[in-house]
Amino acid sequence: MNSKKLTSIFRVLGWISFFFLLSAPAFFLAKAQSGTSFVIRNARVFDGRKILGQADVWVENGKIKAVGKNLKVPSDARVIEASGDTLLPGLIDSHTHAWGDALKEAEIFGVTTELDMFTGVKYMQQVKEDQAEGKDLDLADLRSAGSLATAPGGHGTEYGIQIPTLSSPAESQPWVDARIAEGSDYIKIVIDDGSAYGSHRPTLDNETLKAVVDAAHKRGKIAVVHIGTQQDARAAIEAGADGLAHLFADSAPEPDFGKFVAAHHAFIVPTLTVLESVSGVPTGESLTNDSHIIPYLTSDDVTNLKRSFPKFPTHLSEKYAEQTIVQLKAAHVPVLAGTDAPNAGTSHGVSIHRELELLVRSGLTPQEALAAATSVPATTFHLDDRGVIAPGKRADLLLVKGDPTEDILATRDIVSVWKLGVEDDRATYRATVAKAKQDAAKAALTPAQSGTEIGLISDFEDGTSSAKFGSGWMVSTDTIAGGKSTGEMKVVSGGTNASKHALEISGVIDGGLPYAWSGVMWSPGSQPFVPVNLSAKKSISFMATGDGQTYRVLIFTASGGRIPAQQTFTAGTEWKKITVPFSAFNGTDGHDISAVLFVGGPNAGTFKFQIDDVRLE
Ligand SMILES: [Zn+2]
Repeated sequence: MNSKKLTSIFRVLGWISFFFLLSAPAFFLAKAQSGTSFVIRNARVFDGRKILGQADVWVENGKIKAVGKNLKVPSDARVIEASGDTLLPGLIDSHTHAWGDALKEAEIFGVTTELDMFTGVKYMQQVKEDQAEGKDLDLADLRSAGSLATAPGGHGTEYGIQIPTLSSPAESQPWVDARIAEGSDYIKIVIDDGSAYGSHRPTLDNETLKAVVDAAHKRGKIAVVHIGTQQDARAAIEAGADGLAHLFADSAPEPDFGKFVAAHHAFIVPTLTVLESVSGVPTGESLTNDSHIIPYLTSDDVTNLKRSFPKFPTHLSEKYAEQTIVQLKAAHVPVLAGTDAPNAGTSHGVSIHRELELLVRSGLTPQEALAAATSVPATTFHLDDRGVIAPGKRADLLLVKGDPTEDILATRDIVSVWKLGVEDDRATYRATVAKAKQDAAKAALTPAQSGTEIGLISDFEDGTSSAKFGSGWMVSTDTIAGGKSTGEMKVVSGGTNASKHALEISGVIDGGLPYAWSGVMWSPGSQPFVPVNLSAKKSISFMATGDGQTYRVLIFTASGGRIPAQQTFTAGTEWKKITVPFSAFNGTDGHDISAVLFVGGPNAGTFKFQIDDVRLE
């Protein structure tokens, strides 16, 4: 939505990859069984548009072979008896930012297709390559905008990643053509001057907006626009946008808004979940209390679902969006379910169930809400092979207990998920999540090692990079998350005061990732990332000197999950003592710290700084 929001996106996205790749990527290794012939008998079938009633669905070689009553199938076809359950097309989330384990989590919760609205181009290309080779059957299918269209200094540029910006209509066609060459499935445009959030940032002018939309259309691509305010929404639709990636929460809809959208044949992805979160409501919290969902949520998912955006100095209300949906429904505007995961208050996959609930709260019938997550996005985004249960379509399916066409909350009681006829191994995922939670609980109780009470971590006086306690210093760079930043550490002579040695950290930030980093990491436990109770101390202090650039201290805690808290410092030509209280790191008291990093980035370029006398005080 605004800069804070996107910062949050990248903090989440980036560090998901960071942590995920540090730990064993067991989820990705789960091997799907090969697709075979099976029939799901006697389920209530919602085909994406309407209820077919009780029927059989026969799947062969990843596709739906037949739908009907008492289907005759080959004798070797497995029979899945599903009376009392409801079979739906696999869900489509029409607004996400995919990265790390996003697509795995999505499929666990029945989302078999994600329409990503801005991610790393390299990630998008890699996933698509794997998908084309028939891999990744345990991951949601990805369609992506790749990079986004924004003004220089506009929303999306604030992370040091190279986002190709635009400043005039003339640049539009080459910009769009470059995105298509990279593999973008559609074009995402940002119109947001920050005013909805009481801030200000540059944004594309209406002429450039229109030129990008026209350039996309010239190449047969859909143009989707992120907007901040109702005024932006009108401007985007007037410029010919095919759809909006959000509704607005800054004002009640003008009485003709629905008719206006309908007259322009545009579609809307309201993203009620994230609008609720932006309004200060932790929209995902109810999901974390649902017994059908809890076993499949990692502790990081839970942390993020319980968050919301900080209060902005403007009056934002998700209720305005709900009022707008009443108008959209009356005007027959296509409404698509999208979550904007993994923003604060959301998580991949699981949040679509909250979005469905909010769509129903806004006045859609449960069937209309289900269509908003199946047939409607499939039609809108020209995904002709999915979104409905019919012969010849992909066997992307979701089987749930009960009847979500009557009670939308029933989508949460998932029996099975299939992608291309291959059943997702939810049991293994559930066991892995349970084990990770147990391990974290155990580790958090681990007392600090002896030596902690003195507080000195390292003064490097013995000429090595050893630490007095914990698991020592190691280089950490974004290469583990697909980046190309390089780094090294070495003990150098000299140091602060009468010190003989210090630790020098240098490298090159590639800038190819929005959260690029390079530096050193120290963990207080016997192994990297094992959380330890350091609450007997109140702050971390260190001496620093360097090239004058800004650097970051990152602290990971078990309760904070994959997202580190960070504080910046400047390493100037003179040695300077820097003391940061634990509480400055998202209010932690230090009881479950798992790692401390000193890093450069995310801005691209070379860097060099030294640290010395690192201690807890
Ligand atoms: Zn978004």
